[in-house]
Amino acid sequence: MLELPEAVVLARQINENISGKRIISTTANHSPHKFAWYTGDPADYNERLAGKTIGTAVAYGGHVAIAADEMIIIVSTGLRWHRPEERLPQKHQLLLELDDRTALTATIHMWGVLFCLRDGEDGGMFDIAAAMKKPSPLTMQFDRTYFDALLQDGATNLSAKAFLATEQRIPGLGNGVLQDILWKARIHPKRQMSTLSAPEMRNMYDAVKSILREMTELGGRDTERDLFGNFGGYVTVLSKNTIGTACPVCDNRIRKEAYLGGSVYFCDFCQA
Ligand SMILES: [Zn+2]
Repeated sequence: MLELPEAVVLARQINENISGKRIISTTANHSPHKFAWYTGDPADYNERLAGKTIGTAVAYGGHVAIAADEMIIIVSTGLRWHRPEERLPQKHQLLLELDDRTALTATIHMWGVLFCLRDGEDGGMFDIAAAMKKPSPLTMQFDRTYFDALLQDGATNLSAKAFLATEQRIPGLGNGVLQDILWKARIHPKRQMSTLSAPEMRNMYDAVKSILREMTELGGRDTERDLFGNFGGYVTVLSKNTIGTACPVCDNRIRKEAYLGGSVYFCDFCQA
């Protein structure tokens, strides 16, 4: 499942490398996956997309929307671009073969959407529609006033993780990018929002803005792959790569725990 920095990077790489190419054929649901969501029958995807030309790709939260003439392809999972001589992955849920013999594949790991719609058609995608309306943390519209307003409506009872990374409150801010944001803000993932001091609230806001910007500018996180299969250049402090290693600030061991449907990583000493 994509998060904001990686979605922005994928959209940029598609625009730089794939826009303008024509789709020769499409295969959807090649390897059936219980948690792959399509619009309508995946068997119709080829009819809907063959002959269309790839246009502009845009990131919305953790989704990439790729225009293809009057159609739009929306994915929330990793995408890979393959050169003609490259072998395609054995399992994939979406394959676009392009007119220069390159190909684009999407492979679902946990779950993901692989929608194909006529532009403007809703398709009941409430989460995407909502993500499109909410300002991205990478923009100026996402300012301190907007951030503080998110805390209203009963969110003060939530933990820091639940506030930042659930219910798509901040589209594209998921359990992956969350870890370094809270580490930078020096706030424990289980800390209740109502107990944050004014300086801590400021730190949380600053960390959301600065960490997401840094992750995006560096081509995504070093735990995630880009369109070419390369890991991103942002070196994660808290991730599966660093569990058990020393916190770069205090030398304490980085810990991992299951919490709210996913693992949280933290430094006991730095994060209170
Ligand atoms: Zn520490």
